[in-house]
Amino acid sequence: NQVIEINEIKKFYQVGTEVVKALQGVSLSITQGEYVAIMGPSGSGKSTLMNIIGALDTPTGGQYVLNGTDVSRLSDDSLAEIRNKEIGFVFQTFNLLPRYTALENAMLPLIYAGVSKIDRQERGKEVMESVGLSDRMHHRPNEMSGGQRQRVAVARALINRPSIILADEPTGNLDSKTSVDIMRLFDEIHKQGNTIILVTHEEDIAQHAHRIIRLRDGLIESDLVNEQVAAF
Ligand code: ADP
Ligand code: ADP
Repeated sequence: NQVIEINEIKKFYQVGTEVVKALQGVSLSITQGEYVAIMGPSGSGKSTLMNIIGALDTPTGGQYVLNGTDVSRLSDDSLAEIRNKEIGFVFQTFNLLPRYTALENAMLPLIYAGVSKIDRQERGKEVMESVGLSDRMHHRPNEMSGGQRQRVAVARALINRPSIILADEPTGNLDSKTSVDIMRLFDEIHKQGNTIILVTHEEDIAQHAHRIIRLRDGLIESDLVNEQVAAF
């Protein structure tokens, strides 16, 4: 059951008279329930690949099939619809709306999905509980710690039961103890059957994943099972 099938994806940017080849032919498949880390030095194409996987951008060449739908040539509107349904995003900077409470932030994707208010409240409370924030639901982001804010972002990512959770440097703004807490939360979410793809340049964060893909110069340098966790 392949969630993601990427075949010879290329992404070129025209910068003045120069062409920047951010991805030069990347192929990979990801199965339902996998836990994947994408690593690589700055400029190796991680953000570009995440943007394509997350249906925020389309490739210059190659094919991307997400849950059986070829999304490589879709219009922006169709991409937005697929994105809201299939992908839960977690960012380094949390990206919460400051005027809304934690619960309201987490419920936002349900509004876009047209879910009724009663169902939004029910699902919202359930997911806030699952990230350990039952007692913080009505706080605003500026009344919460970094770790709590990231838990809200994780709740928001989970709320539509997406097929993939995409996390871009999710611990990049957190101290090391809080980073460990957040990674334990991702481990828990993975155990519940979710597919997780996380971009990180930190080796100890990547070690939580069961598969580690390393990019270099827009190409896959290695794509390996993580023996350390696979043994459990
Ligand atoms: P990483 O996330 O690994 O740091 P990126 O995907 O951000 O790598 O960048 C890969 C290459 O593509 C870099 O050379 C970067 O400067 C270039 N690049 C990325 N996005 C753009 C863009 N929107 N316009 C022009 N060049 C870009
Ligand atoms: P990171 O290093 O955290 O992966 P970057 O700073 O490389 O992120 O990129 C952040 C965003 O800016 C990405 O969406 C990327 O596509 C875009 N970007 C990167 N390089 C360029 C560039 N040279 N010109 C325009 N946009 C860029």
